[in-house]
Amino acid sequence: MTGEYVSMAHGAGGSAMDALIKRYMLKHFAGSSAEVPLEALDDAAVIDGIVLKSDSYTVKPLFFPGGDIGRMAVAGTVNDMSVLGAEPLALATGFVFEEGFPLHDLERILTSMDETCKEAGVAVITGDTKVVEHGALDKFIINSSGVGRRSPLLDRNLTEVRKFRESEAKWLLDSNIRAGDQIILSGAVADHGIAVLSAREGYGFETKIQSDAAPLNHMIARALEVGGVVSMKDPTRGGLANLLNEWSEKSKVGILIHEERIPVHTGVRAACEMLGLDPLEVGNEGKVVLAVVSQKAEQVLAALRSTDLGREAEIIGRATDEFNLVAVQTSVGGRRILAKPFGDPVPRIC
Ligand code: MG
Repeated sequence: MTGEYVSMAHGAGGSAMDALIKRYMLKHFAGSSAEVPLEALDDAAVIDGIVLKSDSYTVKPLFFPGGDIGRMAVAGTVNDMSVLGAEPLALATGFVFEEGFPLHDLERILTSMDETCKEAGVAVITGDTKVVEHGALDKFIINSSGVGRRSPLLDRNLTEVRKFRESEAKWLLDSNIRAGDQIILSGAVADHGIAVLSAREGYGFETKIQSDAAPLNHMIARALEVGGVVSMKDPTRGGLANLLNEWSEKSKVGILIHEERIPVHTGVRAACEMLGLDPLEVGNEGKVVLAVVSQKAEQVLAALRSTDLGREAEIIGRATDEFNLVAVQTSVGGRRILAKPFGDPVPRIC
């Protein structure tokens, strides 16, 4: 694994990918003058007031219940900018095709991207197209990059935070969380990973389970209007387990979550049990986790629940200084450590 070659785990969003980025990418690219630089390893970067993000999409299959590679490419980039407190402005997309790719599939993907752009209120304004020989690539990949600017709602949100504690935070970074902050999850976990896995392997769960892929910027705006949000992050590869461990490490706090408060749809829970997967480690594409000052948590929760995408939102736990790791209070009353996964148990879900 730590040998000389890239493995699937290096792209799976857990500790293996983390180690690759720290050992190789940071060695060469760290040290810029960006306000939120690469080495923050946050959802997006900020330089001269411009929010910048780049993602590549390699999902297999390209079409799955609830979404497709095009919807994900738009939503994922929009979401990574939005969770920092940015308003997404525009996207740049790079398409790489395997020779022989059906143009009617391209049409379907572009139609889906167009619809998702309209939903989010962004536009694709530049891009690039390349083709490689048959067999040199598995069908099609998309790179999606985005620019955004500071959301006008962010300053208002941070003013609310400062009513309850001293804070110099300018963006909603992973390192902003303090003991006592409440942790809110916007809806049920693991739908996306299980929907893609089922579509790929033909397990048949896909009749009931749909990907949650969606742009979250409008729902996030409702939370920022209420105010008191100190950090936000989307639980993509490695799921909620990876997200909470990143927060715990970067904010140097413990996080305690309550198992019975974490929404998991019945079909997804059954599929995870059958496949031996922990739904907390499976990736999502339409969920956000928010850390909120405790005094504002109920109001933020109500704002989320008033939106279509956030109606299953729950307060799932809190940050604590009693310990410095992520713990789960189980439904039978015990506690277990929720470790950072080595990688998402389902490969190529985004
Ligand atoms: Mg993210």
